[in-house]
Parts: sequence; structure tokens; C-alpha cells
Amino acid sequence: MKTVYFDHNSATPIRKEVLESIIELVEKPLNPAATHALGKEAKAIVDKARLSILKSVNADKDKHQVIFTSSATEANNLVLKGLQGFKIITTVIEHPSVFNVVGEGQISVDENGVIKLDELEEVCKALNGQKFLVSIMAANNETGAIQQIKQASEIVHKYGGLIHSDAVQALGKMPLDMTNLGLDMLTISSHKIGGDFGAAALIIPKNMQLVPLFQGGGQEGGMRSGTHNTRAIHGFAIACELAVSDVENYKNHVEPIRDYIEQEIVKFSPEVVVFSGKAERLPNTLSITMPNVKSETQLIHFDINGFEVSAGAACSSSRLAIPRVQMCMGYSEDVARTTLRVSIGMSNTMEEAREFVECWKQLYLQVNNVKKVA
Ligand code: PLP
Repeated sequence: MKTVYFDHNSATPIRKEVLESIIELVEKPLNPAATHALGKEAKAIVDKARLSILKSVNADKDKHQVIFTSSATEANNLVLKGLQGFKIITTVIEHPSVFNVVGEGQISVDENGVIKLDELEEVCKALNGQKFLVSIMAANNETGAIQQIKQASEIVHKYGGLIHSDAVQALGKMPLDMTNLGLDMLTISSHKIGGDFGAAALIIPKNMQLVPLFQGGGQEGGMRSGTHNTRAIHGFAIACELAVSDVENYKNHVEPIRDYIEQEIVKFSPEVVVFSGKAERLPNTLSITMPNVKSETQLIHFDINGFEVSAGAACSSSRLAIPRVQMCMGYSEDVARTTLRVSIGMSNTMEEAREFVECWKQLYLQVNNVKKVA
């Protein structure tokens, strides 16, 4: 059976150029910590990737440094746990790799899933004179809501704080300029932008030293021990360059497909909720309810019919987590538990969107004709 992949916010297929660049290196044991010729070759590859990644997000190479990690989860943990002596502030809609580390979100969102800057200002004002870090995602992974990072940076800096942004979902889907946004720190991840799994970057100020999460050989300036994943890092840098140079083309391709699905469903069933539908959103992301049909039921239906989609909030297990993001926007748990996330990518077509809408209507009618909660 042909399958349609609509889960690009979770992981993207590897780009052809990235795959080729990785294959070229695959037979070489490239450990940049080694002092022999192959080690030097590896070091040159990793250092080139650092510069290329800084350039891709317009970070200043004289002011910023890249720490390579295995995932954005690790990068977020490293910055939040490694910056000792700082009070950490975050929002209610962060990815669990931020939210669960901080344990609470002190900044709430409006009904569109956009953070409240007046609350941010209040919190920062109260911390004036203390060491504090604010972590705000650039765009939400579930709803696609884009946050006002530039304004947030200005507020945080006004009161002497530092600002970090988890830009895992923003990279390649919208312009991302670290300097223009005034960010001190940034997290990005390879497998969300057509790179391979196993590489991510934490960008921090050049003079900053973080306490490492684990002890070992002292790689990455002593902040992240463990042998570099040279191949994945190399591919990550190439994916980064391609993704940022392709943002407009990407939007032109994915947005009409997303909008078609959304409009057809809303036309058919006007009572659906489109989360963050009125906010500025990533062009590929649709978070939508199917009235009276739980997310699990929808996932099974779409899976059987060959559509790979996800629920609002996914756990590592097959159970679904509490849909915190939708509930923080003011929706009841019952409504939030009927959420489906469709995230489009470059390989998707309008024909796939049409087939998906038909499949959506089929389940909706099946359940709602008998007016029974699935
Ligand atoms: N942050 C956001 C916003 C994400 O969407 C994800 C993954 O979905 C992560 C962090 C974690 O990324 P990784 O899979 O690289 O750990």
C-alpha cells in the first residue's frame, strides 16, 4: 500500500544532497579528537560545519560558538541545566525537553497560542538585577504558532537577562536570523531539516562555559564529552545551508497544501477547531480537531488508510500525553484530546491532500452520524 507521510514536524526524510555527502564519508573512521591525519580531516569537517551553521542562522562567529550534541533534547537540557546560578523562565507551550526540565511555564499564551509579552515583562521586571535566562521556542511544534522572539529579546535584555530559543521547528520553515532576533542562545536539530538523526547544535555566547551533563573526554570545550558524530554533523551543516536558502520555495510548496486541507475540512465541518488558526503560523503545520473522535482513533484510521500523521502531543511510548499545549490555549481536555497534527513537507502533493480530506470525511461521518464518542 502506498503511504503518505504527513509527519514532517516529527522527522524529515534525508535530503539527497545530505545523503550523498554522508555516503562519501561512511567508510572513514573520522574521529576529530585523534591526532593523526584522519583525525585532522575529521576536525576540519566538524569545524567547517560549525562555521557553516553559524552563518546559516546569521550568528556572529566572533560572538557565538556551536556545541554539537546528539539531539535538540540534549542541547536544551545542556543549556538549561548547565547554566548554573541562573533562574530559568520559560513558557507553557515549550517542547518537553524544555518544559519538563524547568518544571513549569511561567509565561502563558493567549487563545491563539502566542505567548503574552506583558507577562514576560512582569516576570523579567521582578528579576531585574538577578541572573536569569528566558527560554522561548521560536515556533510551536504542535500548532506551528510563531512567537515574537525579537520583542521578547528586547524585554529580556532590558532587565539584564539572557534569552535562549528552541528553534527546532522554525529552522528552514521561516527566516531565522539570530542576530536580528537578538538571541543569546539557540537550539536546532538535524533530522527536522533533511539532515540525518544524531546531530543537533546549541549555539551559545563564545565566552560562556556550561557545566556538562556528563563526564568524559572533554570534547566541545569540555561541555559535551563523547566522540563526535562527524558524518551526521557534516550532513547537518549541509542540510542547514540548503534549508535556509530554500525557505521561500518551501513556503510556496507546503502552504497551499496545508491551506487546502484546512479549508476543505472547515467547509465540511465548521465546528472543528484549528489551533493557532488566527496566529502567524509555520506554513506546513495544521493542528485540527475532529469533533467527537479521539486522537488515538484518528491515528488508527489514518494509519490503516496509509496516512502517517500524529496526534497533538506524542509520548515516546504509544500512549498519548496530556495535550498540554491545546489546554493552555483555553480548550477543554475533551476537545484537546481530539487533535490531529498534519505536517507537510516538500515531497507532498495536492493529490495527497485531496485523498487525505476524503479519508478525514469518511471517519468524521462514520462517527458523527451515530453521534457517539469514539
Ligand atoms: N524542540 C522542539 C520544538 C521539537 O519539536 C523537538 C522534536 O520534536 C525537540 C525540541 C526535540 O528534538 P530532538 O528530536 O532533536 O531531540
